[in-house]
Amino acid sequence: MAPIKLYCDFFGHNYKLTKHVTKHVKEYTCKHCKKQLTTSSNGELIELTPTYKDINFVLERIYNNRRLRLKQKTLSSSIY
Ligand SMILES: [Zn+2]
Repeated sequence: MAPIKLYCDFFGHNYKLTKHVTKHVKEYTCKHCKKQLTTSSNGELIELTPTYKDINFVLERIYNNRRLRLKQKTLSSSIY
């Protein structure tokens, strides 16, 4: 891990979008050292700690449920 970390220290992390939690919250992982970031409630990028992982998990579930419900609503309204 040491040479990879040095690489990141020197060139900076190379974050890639790894997860779409909600429309506004996303998770990023560094391609080299696997450090993870997420969007905080005020829109800043912060380190993805286990606490934030839990928050994102719940957020994702709420977000997906709402999207599913919206979809069903539009579906049924187009049928009737
Ligand atoms: Zn890195």
